[in-house]
Amino acid sequence: MSGAREGLVVTVDGPAGSGKSTTARLVARRLGFRHLDSGALYRALTFALLDASVPVETWPDLTRGELEALGVSVEPTPAGFDVRVGDRVLESELRTQRVTAQVSQLSSFPPVREALLGLQRAAGRHGRLVADGRDMGTVVFPEADVKIYLVADLPERARRRLAERGVTSPDDDALAAEAEVIAQRDRRDSTRAMSPLRQPEGATLVDTTSLTIEEQVEVIVLRVRERMAAEG
Ligand code: C5P
Repeated sequence: MSGAREGLVVTVDGPAGSGKSTTARLVARRLGFRHLDSGALYRALTFALLDASVPVETWPDLTRGELEALGVSVEPTPAGFDVRVGDRVLESELRTQRVTAQVSQLSSFPPVREALLGLQRAAGRHGRLVADGRDMGTVVFPEADVKIYLVADLPERARRRLAERGVTSPDDDALAAEAEVIAQRDRRDSTRAMSPLRQPEGATLVDTTSLTIEEQVEVIVLRVRERMAAEG
């Protein structure tokens, strides 16, 4: 695929807490590529709807045009992309529990996926991209040069999510509760009709349960370098 572009596209898909975004960002930095966090786009749309007080029960009926009118956009930066709603660049607003609780349901609606597809493909137009999400290698960039599928055991993914929120020694109840929230999101993401989460054809499976972030990054960077060497 890279023949049509100036550089490679690398996709990193996987379930919540598998380390996709952190890994993809560091891989992009090592390679001098841009990083696209596609989950941030679904989160931005969720944020925009909540911010505009659009009632959640009406979300299934929103049209692609109504969703596009919310003004979610991506703007290239040296390392990646700013995600905006109108003129506002969103960062921590994307990771609130309110957004996280609604994002998977919103992502299952076909007009939502259609509204965001063009933005993601435009981000990959010139290659030199590491894109992470749920359907990067299956739907958005099916011709990607290197595809990675990251997985990790559920308890480990729950531990990582809690650690991100500053809970470093969770008790069993806290761990079980977080695991259940993640498992529910996995179920919604894997069973939806459009673009369900699954291992893309031709993807390298990387189990990160007992790998450090540095090791995960190294595995992927090596795969990309092998591919670059093969292309000459
Ligand atoms: O990766 P992150 O946790 O930010 O993704 C938030 C949600 O956005 C996921 O649970 C999923 O429902 C949705 N998503 C998606 N397709 C993508 C990326 C994210 O459906 N490519």
